[in-house]
Amino acid sequence: MSRVYNFSAGPAVLPEEVLQSAADEMLDYNGTGMSVMEMSHRSKAFEKIITEAEADIRELMNIPDNYKVLFLQGGASQQFAMIPMNLMKNKVADYIVTGQWAKKAYQEASKYGKVNKIASSEDKTFTYIPDCSDLPISEDADYVYICENNTIYGTKFKELPNTKGKTLVADISSCFLSEPIDVSKYGIVYGGVQKNVGPAGMVIVIIREDLITEDVLPGTPTMLTYKTHADAKSLYNTPPAYGIYICGKVFKWLKAMGGLEVMKERNEKKAKILYDFLDQSKLFKGTVVAKDRSLMNVPFVTGDEEMDAKFVKEAKEAGLENLKGHRTVGGMRASIYNAMPIEGVEALVAFMKKFEEENL
Ligand SMILES: *Cc1c(COP(=O)(O)O)cnc(C)c1O
Repeated sequence: MSRVYNFSAGPAVLPEEVLQSAADEMLDYNGTGMSVMEMSHRSKAFEKIITEAEADIRELMNIPDNYKVLFLQGGASQQFAMIPMNLMKNKVADYIVTGQWAKKAYQEASKYGKVNKIASSEDKTFTYIPDCSDLPISEDADYVYICENNTIYGTKFKELPNTKGKTLVADISSCFLSEPIDVSKYGIVYGGVQKNVGPAGMVIVIIREDLITEDVLPGTPTMLTYKTHADAKSLYNTPPAYGIYICGKVFKWLKAMGGLEVMKERNEKKAKILYDFLDQSKLFKGTVVAKDRSLMNVPFVTGDEEMDAKFVKEAKEAGLENLKGHRTVGGMRASIYNAMPIEGVEALVAFMKKFEEENL
């Protein structure tokens, strides 16, 4: 067996220890004689899995008691609708548009009320985070929305926007559990798990209790009402059970690694290796304003499309996979999530050096 270094933006690399442990338990989970895929979500064994998963993510993220943790289906994209349907009491929301995912969320919310784009970085292909210290926050805004780490463009909010007292809602799909955050600063933080936490098809929503109400927009489906899932502890219907199980294993892996402070240091160290190389390279160039660079997604270009394609092809032959950039940015993108070992980043930089020598 040989595993490649997988730089995919998502679904993405998971810790090998987690995959191995899931493989070991595939046919017989913990003496139950069945796989987690085959068991009732109301069984004792699964109850333990979901209870421990919640306790572990609460510990890792230091989630305050007045927040609920929901394990839901529909990916991150379903939240683009669920958020306005549940939070738009005044039917007004302010969105900061820093990439395609924020833009999609903004467009979806526009179906339900008056949605203001209060800042955007679209003028420069989303290569920076706008100054959010003094934005025209709407007086009657139900919430202010951001996408905290922009997976496609490789930018990250290093400071949260000044929402002037309004509830902050953040999509943290691609920086989920990559570093500590102060959950109490948000009304909702949520993320699709396939970027940094687990298998696709599942989203984790961390929501302050006062935002969970029956007072949702008329016609909101039962399944899209936060209260349904909060009241049922994510077991209103059959949850994404196998996904919850794998995420639970990743939480235990993160705890064993030393928690999110340690992950942050590790992620900074990995990203520095790549950014330091890009900053002195004569062939490759990072596309993002230095102060707004993501620790997770690193886009770069040579400035020549044919050269980019040659690089991606030869990198793949060298066991460095999924380095092609998003179609809207071109060039390359290396996603270096929690589970990417430092050796993977070192191998990438060594390959880039060699490629540069051969092609300059
Ligand atoms: C991938 C991604 C999404 C979409 O996730 P799905 O689970 O496919 O809906 C949303 N937001 C961000 C920041 C992402 O990276």
